Amino acid sequence: MTKAFVIGHPIAHSRSPLIHGTWLKAYGIDGSYEAIDVASDALSEFVAQLRAGTFAGGNVTIPHKEAVFSLCDEVDPLARRIGAVNTLVARNGRVCGTNTDYLGFLGNLDQQAPGWDRDLSEAVVLGAGGAARAVLVALAERGLKHIAILNRTVDKARDLAAEMGTQFSGHALSEFSTLAPSAGLVVNTSSIGMHGSHFEDLDLGLLPQTALVTDIVYTPLVTPLLADAQARNLRSVDGLGMLLHQAVPGFEAWFGVRPDVTPELRAAVEKTLDH
Ligand code: NAP
Repeated sequence: MTKAFVIGHPIAHSRSPLIHGTWLKAYGIDGSYEAIDVASDALSEFVAQLRAGTFAGGNVTIPHKEAVFSLCDEVDPLARRIGAVNTLVARNGRVCGTNTDYLGFLGNLDQQAPGWDRDLSEAVVLGAGGAARAVLVALAERGLKHIAILNRTVDKARDLAAEMGTQFSGHALSEFSTLAPSAGLVVNTSSIGMHGSHFEDLDLGLLPQTALVTDIVYTPLVTPLLADAQARNLRSVDGLGMLLHQAVPGFEAWFGVRPDVTPELRAAVEKTLDH
């Protein structure tokens, strides 16, 4: 039996066992996927067990995404650029780390808004935390000419832009009004939208009518930002698909089948969200 896991601390909230468990059943695979609570001081011992062949691999979530980086025998260039590892694969006594959040972000938009990146040259990304990094790398990969990072702590946005490259710039959230008229895409990667929080003074009415608004926060599924976009008849995509699509490459690497993100899977996970 092939075994995989998700490790984190705490881990009870993770929806990954539901996602991978649904696929294991759907594809009739003799495998398991379990949530394991691993505290920070036990992380290196866990990776050693993985190297010894106990599991085919697994996912890594908060708070270990950065710490596990240095415990891997190999980290691919993409995960290096993002600065975090969320997927581990054990192979020939070695532990390889990658980051699938960027593929999850792209897979979600490709599925929900096909052609979204055609002729897209400018984007506004809200937030400059860990999740922003995967989104920024993904947008750069699709060839956008200018990506503006807007953050509450403006220095973090500027530092991140400088680190990412010349097509990025860092700004305060208040600069949305000057950047919006030429932005074809707005992505919220900040935690605003959770627990009833919302952006103050973000006028989506300044965006071109063709703009797409997407949020990676998926609790609630329709965040205040997405509700605002929908009320203005702007295209919008919620963040649940990113969670589903980021799971695809890991499942394929451990169990040998590339799984589909189906409406049934989405409905099963949606049922577990607070509306
Ligand atoms: P993080 O590293 O803690 O970053 C949080 C970001 O939110 C920072 O930019 C922070 O700004 C900003 N922020 C927090 N509170 C704010 C406030 N009151 N006003 C304005 N800005 C505020 O978190 P993360 O790991 O990047 O995750 C961010 C969100 O993405 C979380 O809700 C997470 O659940 C979601 N996420 C979703 C997926 C998915 O698959 N859909 C994947 C990963 C993450 P400062 O720098 O000023 O503090």
